[in-house]
Amino acid sequence: MGELLTGKNIVVMGVANDRSIAWAIAKSLSEQGARLAFTYESERVEGRVRKLAETIPGSVILPCNVTVDEDIDKLAEELKENFGVLHGIVHSIAFAKGEDLEGRFAATSRSGFALAHDISAYSLVAVAQRLHPLMTEGGSIITMTYMGSERVMRNYNVMGVAKAALEASVRYLASDLGPDNIRVNAISAGPIRTLAAKGISDFNSILRVVEEKAPLRRGTDAAEVGDTAMFLISQLSRGITGEVIYVDGGYHIIGG
Ligand code: NAD
Repeated sequence: MGELLTGKNIVVMGVANDRSIAWAIAKSLSEQGARLAFTYESERVEGRVRKLAETIPGSVILPCNVTVDEDIDKLAEELKENFGVLHGIVHSIAFAKGEDLEGRFAATSRSGFALAHDISAYSLVAVAQRLHPLMTEGGSIITMTYMGSERVMRNYNVMGVAKAALEASVRYLASDLGPDNIRVNAISAGPIRTLAAKGISDFNSILRVVEEKAPLRRGTDAAEVGDTAMFLISQLSRGITGEVIYVDGGYHIIGG
């Protein structure tokens, strides 16, 4: 065990099960001595999150549906009570309706567009807005994105547009919060088999192409995303903010 995050209090949002990228991140943070709070979306996932979180001694477990402002206000209060000072936020949350993750992007409904953007992009702003006052010793906020923000990826559709909004939000938040020594960055991960990935039609063929064409000739492992997140939360990355860092075996650099 390392000590890069000893004495640091970090909230991890977005664990649904042991395949969640947020869980891989939590393990990397905990290995460096961080004290963690986990949030869960709803009672539907509470049991699973509790069971996982309890394997990391000293963890706090709190509810937070990011579409509900009162939930985020309550989260801020409870983190203040439990931790006093907050040093890091891991935002690993996204959602779009299944019907908006297949076929033509042109068919996206107004409500589907709004929902995907609310949960997958605005939630980062809402969380940063309410939790950054707890970061009185400076801090680091990270979120998860995907290359579909920059390029058209089949079936990714409205989520690609939401990820573009998320990445732009990272830059604006980084600019606003930088003077308080709070950094904001995104990790753009290659495809990983998780619950959220199951919602994307034909995900297996996306994985196959990456394994064939990425410079490292393999898919992305959640643990390597976890370690990059640990780096971005730690002081090792103190000069980096407003950035999107790819952890995808180099796939995004490949042209034809
Ligand atoms: P996941 O399903 O394990 O995680 C998604 C999380 O979002 C879940 O924990 C879910 O409970 C949470 N969530 C959804 N709606 C919410 C709400 N209203 N309030 C609170 N939480 C809510 O899947 P994952 O792949 O670990 O996804 C995590 C992040 O990583 C997402 O932003 C996703 O877009 C991103 N990402 C995933 C991949 C991949 O291939 N899996 C690649 C790049 C980026």
